[in-house]
Amino acid sequence: MTQAPLAETIRKQIAINGPLSVAHYMSLCLLDPKHGYYTQATPFGAQGDFITAPEISQLFGEIIGAWLINAWHVLGKPAPFLLVEAGPGRGTLMRDIARTARLDAAFRAAADLILIEASPKLRAVQEQTLQDAAIEARWLSDLDQLPDLPCMMVSNEFFDALPIRQFVKHRDQWLERVVGLGEDNQLQWQTGTASLSPASLPATAGTVDDGAIFEVSTAREAVVAAMAAHIAKNGGIGLHFDYGHATSAPGDTFQAVHRHAFVDPLDTPGQADLTSHVDFEALARSAKRQGVHPYALMDQGDFLLRCGLLERAGQLGDQKPVTVQQQITADVKRLAGDGPDDMGELFKAFCFAHEKVGALPPFAA
Ligand code: SAH
Repeated sequence: MTQAPLAETIRKQIAINGPLSVAHYMSLCLLDPKHGYYTQATPFGAQGDFITAPEISQLFGEIIGAWLINAWHVLGKPAPFLLVEAGPGRGTLMRDIARTARLDAAFRAAADLILIEASPKLRAVQEQTLQDAAIEARWLSDLDQLPDLPCMMVSNEFFDALPIRQFVKHRDQWLERVVGLGEDNQLQWQTGTASLSPASLPATAGTVDDGAIFEVSTAREAVVAAMAAHIAKNGGIGLHFDYGHATSAPGDTFQAVHRHAFVDPLDTPGQADLTSHVDFEALARSAKRQGVHPYALMDQGDFLLRCGLLERAGQLGDQKPVTVQQQITADVKRLAGDGPDDMGELFKAFCFAHEKVGALPPFAA
């Protein structure tokens, strides 16, 4: 039986209240104040459990910084404006964006930098990373607390960490997949009684076999709705990177990662990162409902290359030792390539803006 300290708490909860939805299980594992993954662990980087794009190379944040400066001009240079990052991890992406912002003094002066972070431990890491940053940061724990100003929001691997629910096809019904207790008192998958209305399923779901899984994330949709509502009211844009699919479709993408390897999501609650692939069609629908315009989804690789990744990599490697140049080449491949370990195709750039913004390269309308 697993010895993870959170496992005992979860077993007790299930024994008293019955099985947990995947969403409830995920929230406990990720954000439990005492034993949650983001509240306790040091997840990122080569020493941690997984590596994210900004931790691979400064190129990622620099390209996004340059894109934001350009988009600020497209927006008509609002001053002041909110520069917001949700789920900043170690703060690396924002450190690189802020450094790039030195290129445009007016952008930098107009930016009111706000980080949205749920974990006090990671917030302390972010404070450290950003202590000498070119733009001074402040922290909020919720998007609802954003002041009414035009806003440029970014995130990387934020949505995948927000909870999902899973539904399993059983004859003509989709029943909720839950975490219960087996006879040996171990956590185990069970089928619950809540069911999903067929209206919330894509057309493809009708043809799949029994046992197929469909994932729904009201948490992600609500966060996008809050971001989009703020932009619809105050003006601005959102640019978000994550792994996932452009079209809603059945499939079990719930995963746990510990020390760069996949593990059983029920095995070590609170000690592994729990995520699932993002359904960008559902998020685009949620944004649109608030009256903002979602642009056509782009592969991360296409986005970075079309924003000048190779040119910036060339600059960065100029006059540097061969080993440094080789590392830059490897980083470019990891960020934008299409190999099995690369992020270029699996990760997407999801962008939405106030409906008056119009063309926002490199996105197609
Ligand atoms: N963007 C970073 C970290 C991604 S991990 C990077 O690319 O390296 C997910 C981040 O979202 C962590 O900082 C985590 O603490 C934060 N997070 C998770 N759930 C959250 C929530 N509900 N509200 C705010 N932040 C949250």
